[in-house]
Amino acid sequence: MNEKVYREVARFPSGSSAGKFYVVKEDQEGNLSCDCPAWRFKKPNQERRCKHTEAVASGKTPPAAPASQPVEVKPTDEVVSGIMADIEKARASKGWKPLGQALEDLEDETADAIDRAYDQERDRRMLVEGEDKPKDERR
Ligand SMILES: [Zn+2]
Repeated sequence: MNEKVYREVARFPSGSSAGKFYVVKEDQEGNLSCDCPAWRFKKPNQERRCKHTEAVASGKTPPAAPASQPVEVKPTDEVVSGIMADIEKARASKGWKPLGQALEDLEDETADAIDRAYDQERDRRMLVEGEDKPKDERR
């Protein structure tokens, strides 16, 4: 019998779903695991990996944030223009479509683009020291 004990070592807020977290755990031998899609849906013939376990392995743990208080991420101007560029690219690659279909696609693409932008912004904040708390930017 070789029962494994897992210890939670880090918790990363999901970029797309507020209040959702990906949890990195460590077993007695120091092996890391994660419950994010990238980790769970490993591609065949590829090493199992995800950015969360890699961040933990390299010492870049996220700010501790209890599940009840998701980290709020406000997209910067840079991120927003990235989203717009992504949308334009996606639209251009598909060519003309009936308006209804185009609008439907646009919604999916917008959601995907926002998802990516949030992930990027969150990663950036995790790597910048002293920016672990969202600033109140309202004046
Ligand atoms: Zn992960």
